[in-house]
Amino acid sequence: MTDTVVRLVGVTQQYGQGGTAVSALSGVDLEVSRGELVAVMGASGSGKSTLLSIAGGLATPTTGEVIIEGEYLSEQSPSQLARLRRRSLGFVFQDFNLIPTLTALENVTLPLELDGFRSRVARRAGKDALASVSLADKLDAYPDDLSGGQQQRVAIARAVVGGRRLILADEPTGALDSATGELVLRMLRSRVDAGAAGILVTHEPRHAAFADRILFLRDGRIVDETARDGADSLLRGAGR
Ligand code: ADP
Ligand code: MG
Repeated sequence: MTDTVVRLVGVTQQYGQGGTAVSALSGVDLEVSRGELVAVMGASGSGKSTLLSIAGGLATPTTGEVIIEGEYLSEQSPSQLARLRRRSLGFVFQDFNLIPTLTALENVTLPLELDGFRSRVARRAGKDALASVSLADKLDAYPDDLSGGQQQRVAIARAVVGGRRLILADEPTGALDSATGELVLRMLRSRVDAGAAGILVTHEPRHAAFADRILFLRDGRIVDETARDGADSLLRGAGR
């Protein structure tokens, strides 16, 4: 039994055909294990969001394979894929994507309810997840009543509720001030330390420093990969 949660093998993504085709990803190999947070950096248009969507089965690559906990996504039926996404994966986006008419707790328990968990079980898991992001006192608050940082912590709770094992975060701090952004990253880091695997897309070197490894994408290719120690000195070299 390996600790690998997600593996991408030779993943290529092409949009469009012929002369106007765009190669969003070319030959990407990546493996992320339990307890590991990988940051993905790169210029706008370098393929970061495409990589995340493919790793989470939201998009199917043109070629290559994605394997989540030993399951080849290419071999799953649409309903199996939907169930795998609901049970194993959590997404966090820049704009939170909370449902405004549901309370914090209802937002967090929604994926479990959709998956057929009994209400009482879902509520208990939802409360635990919100407590883990220090929002135990905001269960009944609506998104509009919460600050941006609190909303993003609800989104993180939703991403990890019920023991989701792969957290995919696409510039989750993009809409937050820097102190709040760091708090959200600390939460993400602690969920990964508790046994999840994480992929974090970020522009901020300071935030990438929360990761164990940093990948740099350019024109859809991984051009550099740095372990945290190396990344720290690299970032210091960049004048941090
Ligand atoms: P990033 O998140 O690093 O900014 P993206 O993954 O969003 O990069 O995009 C990578 C490349 O693929 C860009 O050139 C972008 O224009 C292109 N692209 C992304 N999504 C689509 C799409 N649905 N149709 C066509 N081209 C796309
Ligand atoms: Mg993007």
